[in-house]
Amino acid sequence: MSRKLREAITHKSTPTALVTGIGGQDGSYLSELLLAKGYRVVGTVPDGDPVNIDRVRHLLDRIEIVQDDLLDQDRLEKIFHDHRPDEVYNFAANSVLAASFQQPILATMVLAMGVTRILEAIRKVTPKARFFQASSSEIFGKPAEVPQSETTPFHPRNPYGVSKVYSHLMTTTYRENYGRFACSGILYNHESPRRSPEFVTRKITRAAAMIKLGLSKELRLGNLEARRDWGFAGDYVRAMWLMLQQPRPDDYVLATGETHSVRELCEEAFSHLGLDYREYVVKEEENFRPPETAQLVGNPAKAHRVLGWERTVSFRELVRMMVDADIEAIRAAGSD
Ligand code: GDP
Repeated sequence: MSRKLREAITHKSTPTALVTGIGGQDGSYLSELLLAKGYRVVGTVPDGDPVNIDRVRHLLDRIEIVQDDLLDQDRLEKIFHDHRPDEVYNFAANSVLAASFQQPILATMVLAMGVTRILEAIRKVTPKARFFQASSSEIFGKPAEVPQSETTPFHPRNPYGVSKVYSHLMTTTYRENYGRFACSGILYNHESPRRSPEFVTRKITRAAAMIKLGLSKELRLGNLEARRDWGFAGDYVRAMWLMLQQPRPDDYVLATGETHSVRELCEEAFSHLGLDYREYVVKEEENFRPPETAQLVGNPAKAHRVLGWERTVSFRELVRMMVDADIEAIRAAGSD
């Protein structure tokens, strides 16, 4: 038997993906995608935290869950030894921006140092593994240009953004200096019915559903004029997977290229239920945040061109999908 043939036969036919932070929105959508593509999926959830696996509960008989501690290098490397991933997707982060203001040291340790630890584990244990880093539009903070692309200078304006710049550059460094297949996806806001209610999209869709069902009377919000580039998380995880299937590692902006205001979001969500948001939305100063991130809108041209990626869900469809899911979830909870 030729060496090539033997290698072809003995080569693992089922690729293994390691997904850190599998309990989050992106981890759950990506797991569904990877399982559908025939991957073995191993996911990590943070040690010490109450294990939050609600979003992957429906997948538990098909994925493996391990507890990690991104502050403990030996434990992390053991996970790599035990599972030998072919692809690694890093979502281990507290993506709620406001929390990074409260706990900047912890945010830095997990968001920034956590990435270096994963990259080191790859370098030492599974050097051929391909790595995806969930980078963020917050690296542009106060952007030098509109829309932003892969070449826009970094100008983060909060601890979360600063940590994300560090991890973004560390990913580039392992690619350029250590020759690893390491990529950053510069993710603009991406939402879904699995978004946590700390984010304004879900806060609004859930409140609209509660009001419609007579369970609430008002919705307290901060700046209604704030604008974001909002896409559907299910579309974004597909782009992440595509990034790791390319012949060469690279960074990509993943965005819709259009922005909408919080006010438009309210209009869309409430009108879908036959309601007028102006009768229910109350402005509340404590929901304003300083300094407001300005004009963050991404140019996804490179992802379109190189990855052939297109989003499939529009802003209106996204908001309606979230409102419908909230109505259904509240009804289901009520009938339990
Ligand atoms: P992120 O700031 O991009 O991480 O995402 P969010 O969903 O938390 O916030 C999006 C925008 O909505 C920001 O500009 C907020 O200032 C604005 N916003 C207005 N009212 C609220 C609110 O009650 N909660 C949150 N989270 N954001 C709000």
